[in-house]
Amino acid sequence: MAKTVKDYIRTIVDFPHEGILFRDVTTLFADPRGFRMCVDQLLAPYAGMRIDKVVGLEARGFILGGAVAHQLSTGFVPIRKKGKLPGQTISQAYTLEYGEAVVEVHDDAMAPGEKVLVVDDLLATGGTAEAGIKLIERLGAEVVGCAFVVDLPDLGGRRRLEAMGMEVHALCA
Ligand code: 5GP
Repeated sequence: MAKTVKDYIRTIVDFPHEGILFRDVTTLFADPRGFRMCVDQLLAPYAGMRIDKVVGLEARGFILGGAVAHQLSTGFVPIRKKGKLPGQTISQAYTLEYGEAVVEVHDDAMAPGEKVLVVDDLLATGGTAEAGIKLIERLGAEVVGCAFVVDLPDLGGRRRLEAMGMEVHALCA
């Protein structure tokens, strides 16, 4: 039977902490068929839609988002962890299991009214994506879709993003 995107993803036990089953997408990215299939499937629902910018969430969202932006002939914008972007930024804090994290975007990276597709490898609690969406909306741009390779439904991320009015697309669970 033909391989699916999920077949290329490896699970690593007890990474980064004991008890965590980490979905390792490097095996998907390393395979030419797997990577192409994944990028094609990520952007498929948005064919024919107006998209001005693809936003990738650090770090694996950069790899996917760059490929998606190239294919859609849009610009690419990184949302990065605090302190990494060289220009003027706006910041958004969000809660982690232990503590807090901050993500940033350049304040001139998107124009008001631009249509944005958010891309990341995995949706868990949705905290990272929610913070990214808030940054995009604070710049006056509009998120028209959120595309992930993996959705872990038990962690509630999809519900959280849908409650914000987002359209969520994921290739596997
Ligand atoms: P969330 O904010 O939705 O709880 O976590 C999602 C973020 O954490 C994403 O940026 C994702 O890259 C990373 N992440 C969390 N768990 C995993 C995992 O098992 N595999 C991978 N590849 N990324 C993960």
